[in-house]
Amino acid sequence: MKLDTRAMRHLAPDDWRVLAAVEQGSKNHELVPVTLIERIARLKGGASGVHRCISNLAKVGLIAKMKEAKYDGYRLTYGGLDYLALHTHAQKKAVYSVGSRVGVGKESDIMIVADDKGDQLILKIHRLGRISFRTVKTNRDYLKNKPSASWMYLSRLAAIKEFAFMTALRDEGFPVPEPIAQSRHTIVMSLVDAPPLRQISSVPDPAALYAELIALLLRFAKHGLIHGDYNEFNILIREDVVEGETDSEGKEKVTLTPIVIDFPQMISMEHANAEMYFDRDVNCIKLFFERRFHFVSTTPGPFYKDAKKTLGKDGAKRLDAALEASGFTKKMAKDLEAAIRAQEAEKEQNPSAYESEEAEDDEAEDDEEDEDDENDSNDSDDDEDAQGKKPIGNHIPVVIE
Ligand code: ADP
Ligand code: MG
Repeated sequence: MKLDTRAMRHLAPDDWRVLAAVEQGSKNHELVPVTLIERIARLKGGASGVHRCISNLAKVGLIAKMKEAKYDGYRLTYGGLDYLALHTHAQKKAVYSVGSRVGVGKESDIMIVADDKGDQLILKIHRLGRISFRTVKTNRDYLKNKPSASWMYLSRLAAIKEFAFMTALRDEGFPVPEPIAQSRHTIVMSLVDAPPLRQISSVPDPAALYAELIALLLRFAKHGLIHGDYNEFNILIREDVVEGETDSEGKEKVTLTPIVIDFPQMISMEHANAEMYFDRDVNCIKLFFERRFHFVSTTPGPFYKDAKKTLGKDGAKRLDAALEASGFTKKMAKDLEAAIRAQEAEKEQNPSAYESEEAEDDEAEDDEEDEDDENDSNDSDDDEDAQGKKPIGNHIPVVIE
């Protein structure tokens, strides 16, 4: 699903009020009765005003009726929730305008946005539960028929968890984006100007980069955490030119700095299946380095049991407690984990449903592929404005009344 902000500017304050009323009503109702929407919105214009707003919102797909409903009511759509989140980000001045989409997976949309100073940021919109675990047996029974398993709830949990970990990791000095704001199923973070490892075809010293990535994984472990999806898509590689130095071929010398993203699936080193996830993360890196750079480490491991011994050592702050500290309950953690595992299993069974536009097949030369975004027109690309900031193609301001 694509975030489409076009209708945003046409919404009047009453429309926003009614949209917020539908959201509030959906805490207890899958389908929010119109009478309840009226009661929550309390518009000056009374029922007829509410009806007009409902029809405006339904027309642009922010709320929808359900088939075979037994009463007159509406539910919030993904689009509706997107608008509410963006509206909040705009009110809090985290986001001023929305630009193009950089990444599309089945579980998230990644958009470039900008704040009111024109600085570019990333908006990550979680879309968990979009594929509704239909073909998966694992965890399906746990999630089935639970109102708490709704996409809205699960996507919000993913955003809360990701934001909490990004904040805790950043505070401890880990190389992760700067968390800026969280609302509903979305987070705003700093834009990392670096490609994913996946897009890097060669590096001067694979052994050094490998060692650095393993050291980072062990540093997570020491702080009580396993990333859980430590792979070439979730590690961005920043290249910094070393001033005045050249390599043996006379090329500019660069240093490579990994920056880790994507935290909804992080787990504690004390999780029941910690060893399996730890090994999976390690093997992901090993396999990638072997395939891409033909590099195989001569050192075996690292092994979970050794990493476990370092937990909390040298004054390392335990970060696996960060989530609970942010008000995330055990039930929330269990619900989210069940959804993520179900999604993983679904991915394994039906990989084609998960192929995102940028995730081409294995070693394909997909590096330079431009997204098909209609915002990508090249005409104004490289002009810089007076402050030296690049205008972003067709940025649409988020209008708040
Ligand atoms: P998902 O959960 O869908 O995998 P990710 O958080 O991994 O979402 O983001 C998907 C892609 O979007 C990444 O592989 C990366 O290319 C890009 N991306 C995400 N966050 C950032 C960021 N802060 N800066 C730059 N690119 C990002
Ligand atoms: Mg990812």
